[in-house]
Amino acid sequence: MPRSQTALELCASKQWPSNNDVAQRFETLPHPGLASDKRYQEVMCSLGFGVEFTDYMARASWNESAGWHDFKIEPYGPLSLDPAGAVLHYGQEVFEGLKAYRHADGSIWTFRPAYNAARLNVSNERLMIPQFPVEDFLGSLVGLVRADRRWVPQAAGATLYMRPFIFASEAFLGVRAAKRFEYGVVASPSGPYFTHGFKPINVWVERTHHRAGPGGMGDVKTGGNYAASFYAKSHAFERGFDEVLFLDAATNSRIDELGAMNVFVVMADGTVRTPALSGTILPGSTRSAILQLLDDEGVTTREETIELDELWMGIKTGDVAEMFACGTAAAVVSIGSLTMGEERVELSDSTVAHRIYQELTDIQFGRISDRFGWMYRLA
Ligand SMILES: *Cc1c(COP(=O)(O)O)cnc(C)c1O
Repeated sequence: MPRSQTALELCASKQWPSNNDVAQRFETLPHPGLASDKRYQEVMCSLGFGVEFTDYMARASWNESAGWHDFKIEPYGPLSLDPAGAVLHYGQEVFEGLKAYRHADGSIWTFRPAYNAARLNVSNERLMIPQFPVEDFLGSLVGLVRADRRWVPQAAGATLYMRPFIFASEAFLGVRAAKRFEYGVVASPSGPYFTHGFKPINVWVERTHHRAGPGGMGDVKTGGNYAASFYAKSHAFERGFDEVLFLDAATNSRIDELGAMNVFVVMADGTVRTPALSGTILPGSTRSAILQLLDDEGVTTREETIELDELWMGIKTGDVAEMFACGTAAAVVSIGSLTMGEERVELSDSTVAHRIYQELTDIQFGRISDRFGWMYRLA
């Protein structure tokens, strides 16, 4: 039986206006100093992740009388913020992350942007930030990518990573939701996540710290969840691990998320499982797409509670064949080992992770047909 669609999936699959219909929503300002050809070549020849930024950024502001206004594509540069600006003190902010992909014919596309727009609004609601219209979200991406077209890489596997965000800018230290907000989108040309092939990662199972708890903000994309995860992550990095597997805060016994990625478990019988969206797990667009791809292939998928003890035993006995994590930045990452205290278990298979990675990125880069209607043309 096919899964029922989540609210985000339903929003993602609606008919939204095309790129040309939203392109004029943001006014593109003249740029006094575009990056030189030399600088452009330097950046594009050594692509990292999130280090270099493009010529432009998208911007808008919100206040009580005007609502969202001042939609601009303007030269990239520092924002000015009052030192009493609420985001600096109370962390009232949300963000999104998605990529622009250049296809072989030069056209530029993004993946399910209305999913991200809908998720931004779920985050907005939780953080007491005004709703940002989906059409304006689309317009900001189209406007920015058209202005920054040359920054969408040609190199295989490389993309333009786009980071929409909203933060509270009101200068006020009273403890309540702010009344002024800023929207922005910055973009960073990024290399392929895997520079040395599809390498499985080593994971630390974190039993002391949690990134989110019941009734908290784990299911929305806000900076505070990341700030809460850095302590465990930094300590795991110091000990040579690549990522941290977080457990649920209520029982400390169930697997939640892998750093800022959703996690999947492939059983030896072919069933694929992922933790259910329990309220502490971010509903990833990649997670959703993978569930749909697997369903479409006739693979049995289950969204359910996954107990760490059972998982651990399953890896030892061979009932668990494979584990992988997913998110926009990396697409799919295979997990090679889990370490809990002094104990370590290894996973040697990455067949499903590999197949899913290939299929997803083939759709994103336009190498195979977009049979789910996931791609949205930007330029
Ligand atoms: C963004 C994010 C993900 C992945 O979501 P995608 O939409 O697939 O990029 C997973 N977990 C957390 C905590 C996140 O912030």
